[in-house]
Amino acid sequence: MNINELPIKGHERLAACTDGDYHGLIAIHSTLLGPAIGGTRFWRYRNQDEAINDVLRLARGMTYKNALAGVPFGGGKSIILKQNGPIDREAIFRAHGRFVETFGGRYFTAEDVGTSPDDMEYVRKETQYVAGLMSGSGNPSPVTARGVFRAMQAAARYRWGSDSLEGRTVAIQGCGSVGYYLASYLRKAGADLFATDVDEGKVEKVVNDFGAMALGPDDIYYADADIFAPCALGGVLNDDTIHALKVEIVAGAANNQLLEPRHGDELAALDILYVPDYAANSGGVINGCRDLLGWNTAQSAAKVDEIYDTVFNIFEMAAAEGIPTYKAADRLAEERLASTRREGDRVVHS
Ligand code: NAD
Repeated sequence: MNINELPIKGHERLAACTDGDYHGLIAIHSTLLGPAIGGTRFWRYRNQDEAINDVLRLARGMTYKNALAGVPFGGGKSIILKQNGPIDREAIFRAHGRFVETFGGRYFTAEDVGTSPDDMEYVRKETQYVAGLMSGSGNPSPVTARGVFRAMQAAARYRWGSDSLEGRTVAIQGCGSVGYYLASYLRKAGADLFATDVDEGKVEKVVNDFGAMALGPDDIYYADADIFAPCALGGVLNDDTIHALKVEIVAGAANNQLLEPRHGDELAALDILYVPDYAANSGGVINGCRDLLGWNTAQSAAKVDEIYDTVFNIFEMAAAEGIPTYKAADRLAEERLASTRREGDRVVHS
């Protein structure tokens, strides 16, 4: 195993590791609130610089997400650079586990894009600093969906004066793990659904199970709906899509929904209430607290419920300060970080 420290400003640490066919990066943005947590992304990048930019951006995002969620963790992330040729997942993820282990508990990992709880079982063979195992808290998606649903209720109250989503129409983009469970919550709450996915089988399931109306992937932006719920990929709020939207609220699970910050300004200018993604989708991190802090399901459910208040606070702050909601979310997270200092092992909030 060959580990290189890469010089970096604004983050606590960035390290690269090569171990046989394994090439990985781990970035720690901040451990002010506690050990850094953030998943492992297994992805093909054009070059190492692109992967470095991604791991740094994602690690910083985790600091903000954890600060807003009110969990005692900092932000970190890892990337495994996918190579050409056959993949021996056990060898790759065990090598990753050995790399994580060298951080001695300053960084905990879990699954992310391109990885699964099964991969984390391989990581677990080499390190205890891993969450999201099938033997532990398991699939985080139902919990993430619950958090997004609570965020939507907060948005509904702020915009329409009531939590109720009965009779509202929600356009769900992406019927994967989170989108499916979100559809279930919404249907139970009496909402009508439009749904799309590039995988027809996944849309069909949401149509059959929850009576959604299927739309094509490009048509979802034009849906005659009250709420748009991006639950597929990032960057979907951009110059090509924002002006098509007829909705009053955007709230979904996808990370990095705004292609650029200015798209958050544009949503505000169009009077579309945007729920900042990392405020809405922290249910997965909160679910991981069952493994990391020994929480039971009731404790994790109570924390997920707090997403409602956090999102409502963001709206109020945005209105009071005349700023878009994505800036208010950043400000709230930064305030929480600024009011925290460390005394030895103790985290002190002032
Ligand atoms: P997933 O892979 O299970 O589902 C994503 C779905 O989106 C897939 O069914 C895919 O076919 C579909 N999709 C891809 N491109 C599309 C397009 N252009 N149009 C329509 N559908 C498209 O992933 P997931 O776990 O459900 O996560 C969804 C999003 O939420 C991701 O962005 C993820 O990073 C984010 N997120 C997930 C969690 C979690 O707990 N799973 C937590 C936080 C954030």
